[in-house]
Amino acid sequence: MPMSPYPVLCYSARCGAPAAYKVAARWSDGATAELKTYALSCAACLANQLARAVAARAVCRLAVGETLDAPGVYDLARGARDRTLTRRPDLEERLS
Ligand SMILES: [Zn+2]
Repeated sequence: MPMSPYPVLCYSARCGAPAAYKVAARWSDGATAELKTYALSCAACLANQLARAVAARAVCRLAVGETLDAPGVYDLARGARDRTLTRRPDLEERLS
């Protein structure tokens, strides 16, 4: 997905703030792996977005051989590839 020149916004309805974090989980089918994005979020909405991602993860149906880790919080870096994003376990622990 090409990066837009405009600020990416928080996914929360009626928020409108620039997103600072990505809520995502590592997915793999055994051959390839990627970050499955649940939401982009500003700091204020992060706890809510992480809770929504955890709930969505809980009902996600996986095919045989697929794995999907628990959703985590990553610093949102413009233009950075997913595998280079910095995970924030400190925020995950504080918010969960
Ligand atoms: Zn927000």
